[in-house]
Amino acid sequence: MLKGSDVFVIGGGPAGLATALAARQRGLSVTVADSLAPPIDKPCGEGLMPDGIVALQRLGVSIPAVEGQRFRGIRFVSGELAVEATFPYGSALGVRRTNLHRIMVEHAEAAGVQFLWRAVVTGIQGQTVQLNNSAMTARWIVGADGGSSRVRRWGGLDQHRRKEQRYAFRRHYRAAPWSDFMELYWGPHCQLYVTPVSPAEVCVALISKDPGLRLDQALEAFPQVAERLSNAEHGSVERGAVSVTRKLARVCAGNVALVGDASGGVDAITGEGLCLAFHQADLLADCLVSSDLSAYQRGHRALARRPVLMARLMLLLEHQRLRARVMRAFVTNPELFMHMLATHVGASSPLEAAANGLALGWGLLTT
Ligand SMILES: Cc1cc2nc3c(=O)[nH]c(=O)nc-3n(C[C@H](O)[C@H](O)[C@H](O)COP(=O)(O)OP(=O)(O)OC[C@H]3O[C@@H](n4cnc5c(N)ncnc54)[C@H](O)[C@@H]3O)c2cc1C
Repeated sequence: MLKGSDVFVIGGGPAGLATALAARQRGLSVTVADSLAPPIDKPCGEGLMPDGIVALQRLGVSIPAVEGQRFRGIRFVSGELAVEATFPYGSALGVRRTNLHRIMVEHAEAAGVQFLWRAVVTGIQGQTVQLNNSAMTARWIVGADGGSSRVRRWGGLDQHRRKEQRYAFRRHYRAAPWSDFMELYWGPHCQLYVTPVSPAEVCVALISKDPGLRLDQALEAFPQVAERLSNAEHGSVERGAVSVTRKLARVCAGNVALVGDASGGVDAITGEGLCLAFHQADLLADCLVSSDLSAYQRGHRALARRPVLMARLMLLLEHQRLRARVMRAFVTNPELFMHMLATHVGASSPLEAAANGLALGWGLLTT
């Protein structure tokens, strides 16, 4: 049996690392185990929104500008129509997952987190965590093991009220970013988003409900993007992932709590998965210190509300007719899009968000 710690985090992705950092900030001893070794890659749109940057800074992590590429807003493109808005504050960062992971691990190591890399967790029981060849005890066990979480099952937390699933593929292209916006292209049955991640590279992610649709085939529906990428070398291989949104009945029980994608996730289209995980980690660490996981349950639900709502609104735009009308409303009145982006990154009050919803409704009726 290995020496125990206050908190054992299963999964050393962004959510697990954020939880470890937050717990160390509050003086708890922390062990993190991951079946892989750093830097861990994962298919992702690689956009860290301004609220995500602030949340990461609260955990003591600043990402040097040279590790990524700043962008100042979001652009929606649907056929001939395009609309863009800058963030109401700060800027966002496109950062390759491997860079983000390396930087977060460095900070966690400096903060005194103990790591077990290439260590597969095979079960939990009470305060014991079972690894391939050993076991360890911990007061708290945190499942940060991603969308297919086994901790969720072991902890009896798999019961969900809703589950939606889409399929994603991403590849990097060695092309200088042509825009200082993250671009979201709406196609017939899929979306493509392009994130600048360095002065010489972009990350292209495809999301759809079709598990068989791949990037090369999807790009045929987006000739503007295909043309820009036609001579660009690939900076990575195409990798797939499932983007799952679950609404779990509970995210904690006894001494077990879930964080990040393990705790439900939010559709990849929002670009808010990382930010949400960082906020959850911060909240969870507070609740571990006060030994009150019921506060985590309540706070987790509150944190998910805005990103889940934004995901639903954005996915309504999959319907072509509605999208055409909304895009025309945005083009006629770009302020509507600006307000929507402000709501998206948590910079508007519920009242302002509601007023914006009404304004959009009015815009739809009058355009
Ligand atoms: C296509 C796509 C695009 C996205 N774009 C964005 C974006 O632009 N911006 C954004 O903020 N979010 C985005 N997201 C969401 C974001 O990627 C996720 O929310 C984030 O990766 C969640 O991190 P996590 O740590 O919870 O899970 P993961 O990153 O999946 O980490 C889980 C870790 O657990 C480990 N693990 C699993 N089981 C075990 C075990 N039994 N023992 C030990 N280790 C284990 C795994 O090896 C892994 O390292 C996107 C997602 C997708 C699919």
